[in-house]
Amino acid sequence: MAESQAGQQTSVVAHTERRGNESAQGDGGGWPFRSYVVSWNLTYRCNLACAHCYLDAGGVRNSERGGELSTAACFRTVEQIHEVTPGALLILSGGEPLLRPDLFDIAAYAAARGLVVVLGTNGTLLTAAVARRLVESGVRGVGISVDSLDPGRHDAFRYRCRAWAHSVAALGALRSVNLPFLVQTTVMEENYDEVPAIVEWAAARGARFLNLYFLVPTGRGAYLSTVSPEQYEALLQRLPALQARHAGRLVISAKCAPHYQRVLFEHNTQTPALRTYLGAGGCPAATQYCGIRPTGDVVPCPYLPVTAGSLHRQTFGEIWRESPVMQRLRQRALLGGRCGPCEFRALCGGCRARAYGATGDYLAEDPWCVYQPGRYGGGKLDVPPEPTYGVPPEFTLTWTPEARARAAAIPAFVRGMVVRAVERYAHVHGHAEVTPVLMAEARARLVGHRPSLPPLALPTGGQPPDRGPSHGHTSPAADRDGA
Ligand code: SF4
Ligand code: SF4
Repeated sequence: MAESQAGQQTSVVAHTERRGNESAQGDGGGWPFRSYVVSWNLTYRCNLACAHCYLDAGGVRNSERGGELSTAACFRTVEQIHEVTPGALLILSGGEPLLRPDLFDIAAYAAARGLVVVLGTNGTLLTAAVARRLVESGVRGVGISVDSLDPGRHDAFRYRCRAWAHSVAALGALRSVNLPFLVQTTVMEENYDEVPAIVEWAAARGARFLNLYFLVPTGRGAYLSTVSPEQYEALLQRLPALQARHAGRLVISAKCAPHYQRVLFEHNTQTPALRTYLGAGGCPAATQYCGIRPTGDVVPCPYLPVTAGSLHRQTFGEIWRESPVMQRLRQRALLGGRCGPCEFRALCGGCRARAYGATGDYLAEDPWCVYQPGRYGGGKLDVPPEPTYGVPPEFTLTWTPEARARAAAIPAFVRGMVVRAVERYAHVHGHAEVTPVLMAEARARLVGHRPSLPPLALPTGGQPPDRGPSHGHTSPAADRDGA
């Protein structure tokens, strides 16, 4: 496949210097990077004890883990996030965030400031009444973790009887209030062969997205046997075909697997998925994404336990802009091992958390990638740049008032990108006016054909939020409201 597309590579190579990550090489500055997605572990408390929890949440140490940010401190943090990135996607997670009594207040406060608030939960506490409160608090989407279609296997992962039944009931509760949801599954040895069936199941349940998380060896996940790099590669190679079968209905995303960019490239150098990943290029940690721990420590990614600063001593903006950890992660020229000379370092960059978990060095190579650099000539590969997050919307066609209203409801940082995509779709199909029907049509065609989406997921990163969250790649809210 790769060889047959050699001709297309000419147009793809040599655009690297214009990409965000690469342009940052050497300057060490935090600008123009924006924290478009913030994954916030609000609490260590959890009612489950999942084997793969990256935060090592719940369990007997609950009472020993004081020092979580107060409600007032959370409000202050919301203001500071808004100051850095108005309209950012805020993933509220845990532990189990529904165990925090002020969750609804924090969500409402953030939504009122214009942040796009979504929730990552194990779902076991999510009744219809809770779902209604989430809607009233301005929550725009919810991610529920389902690790197996076999209830016994799921419950065994989570050390709780009937956890599966409660989580699946939560999907019904969310449907009853029309709150968009996604299903998130951590790929492990035990459920590896189940993935195609989980894809079918999620689609049948009405999920908009299925996030497949590739285990990062951190927290309790560090002690879990996992699938081999070769098995991960084989699964990634199957995803484009699985996605194609569900185009327009379900978006399947690979999380904590930035080398999926390489796989996509090898399948089709022209896929829109590569272009929508511009700016961060693969791993979004510290360039578009970061995490906040319950005690106020800011980390580049929830799966990367390297503290960039504390909200008790600095503002969110100071940490985001000035932290040496954040600045180093923005310089892909510093990457070591195979990731350093790799042609895909701008498109991918490797999972920094996995590198850290395996070696203790967050700039080392991602050991779960099987690629040996050199197959594409040793130069840096990239796709022609295209504006993505943060571009202002430009309406060049006629939009009906209803379509305008829909566009206005799209999260600010992706609105420009969505408007551009809808207008391009309208142009190609000969429409001079954009209506809600056309937006829905474009959404089905464009989103459904994107095998992976960037840092808007629920959560942004690896294992789903209830064990702690993940690196964000796709907002149900963004999907619901836009194309
Ligand atoms: S070697 Fe590193 S940069 Fe290259 S594809 Fe693999 S993970 Fe990505
Ligand atoms: S889990 Fe974190 S470090 Fe790994 S690819 Fe995702 S954002 Fe990057």
